[in-house]
Amino acid sequence: MSTAEAASHLRENPFGLAKSQLRRVGEIFELDPNLIRVLSQCKKAVEVSVPVAMDDGSIEVYLGYRVTHNIARGPSKGGIRYHPDVTLDEVKALAMWMTWKCALMNLPFGGAKGGVICDPKTLSAKELERMTRRYTSEIINDIGPERDIPAPDVGTDGRVMAWIFDTYSMNKGHSVLGVVTGKPLSVGGSLGREEATARGSLYCIQALMVKNGERLSDSSVVIQGFGNVGANLARLLHLEGAKVTAVSDSLGGVYNPNGIDVPAAIAHKQERGTLLGLANAEQVTNEELLELPCDILAPCALEQVITEENASRVQAKIICEGANGPVTPTADAVLEDKGVLILPDVLANAGGVVVSYFEWVQGLQEYFWREDEVNAKLHDIVARAFEEAWHAKAHYDTSLRMASYGLAVRRVAEATTTRGLYP
Ligand code: GLU
Repeated sequence: MSTAEAASHLRENPFGLAKSQLRRVGEIFELDPNLIRVLSQCKKAVEVSVPVAMDDGSIEVYLGYRVTHNIARGPSKGGIRYHPDVTLDEVKALAMWMTWKCALMNLPFGGAKGGVICDPKTLSAKELERMTRRYTSEIINDIGPERDIPAPDVGTDGRVMAWIFDTYSMNKGHSVLGVVTGKPLSVGGSLGREEATARGSLYCIQALMVKNGERLSDSSVVIQGFGNVGANLARLLHLEGAKVTAVSDSLGGVYNPNGIDVPAAIAHKQERGTLLGLANAEQVTNEELLELPCDILAPCALEQVITEENASRVQAKIICEGANGPVTPTADAVLEDKGVLILPDVLANAGGVVVSYFEWVQGLQEYFWREDEVNAKLHDIVARAFEEAWHAKAHYDTSLRMASYGLAVRRVAEATTTRGLYP
């Protein structure tokens, strides 16, 4: 963001928004209000203090969370976020969205999320490792292959997952591959996991193009966020012949209406840690980037970047939510009136958790698949979910978001009813 990073990116309470979305889904899909009340709350939320010895000899104490929203369909699944703006309510909202995402993909998982309030960019590798290991040991009784399985999210990566895997395994006395996904290949990761979220987004965009009778090679794309999701999506769309006209990271964006040289942008970011200064492109702020003319806009960074304040100025025809919750419900309504089609987060960015599921299965079986097998299975799952959501959208005459959430909530509600309320 161009403005001070210190101000939180969250204007509205994300858990409040997630709950209001759920109530709306309950109305459209005529679900039992008792069940909606049950699903409105998180099953468990753990808050832990994470003291860390810093390199300079001082001790810093971080606050960490792990929230399980629901386990009706299986162990809970969801990433761990390291970011200065993390709040308990944000983690709860993200955990709830994971429940819907896993159910929409028909994975045998419930939803969870974790977070530590910290700025990983300012920590040394050793500090990050000590923080991760202490956080893991604080939540060690809450996670496990049959219980709750973390993965990467904003601010975490394969290296962090390897420390979680090692800390958990050292405490158990043997390697437990299924405790965490998004691990590096050398310690039981899955081929294709790194780019899986972006690949899932690509499959959704391709499916939508077929429905609209349009071609990706005739489309222009603007991408906000150049982390794992944004950078891989830019790369994959560029390979498919789409014209990527703008990309950005937290420091700002670069724009060229004739197309950005995506491989050059990736190399530039790797070398300099920023996209700013990329050759043959003009500089834009993150706010300006969201309002650029384009066919497809993919917000792949944080929540609540498209709000009632800027929604009317969005020029894209399609929004692909690479991030979780980037469009607020008020903005949703404005965009719907404008005829913008939104590929919602639970559909558009589910590729990551789908391949996480594959990684978990491979780890439990100690039998690893080829990359083309992973991608083909990912395509099967995402394409089927897209078709189901597309059909529900027409059937209920609603948005693709409400259709996707509706299918998902209905599946979780059905599992809850079938199991019965304990005791
Ligand atoms: N953090 C990712 C998400 O929001 C991945 C979760 C996972 O693989 O468990 O979907």
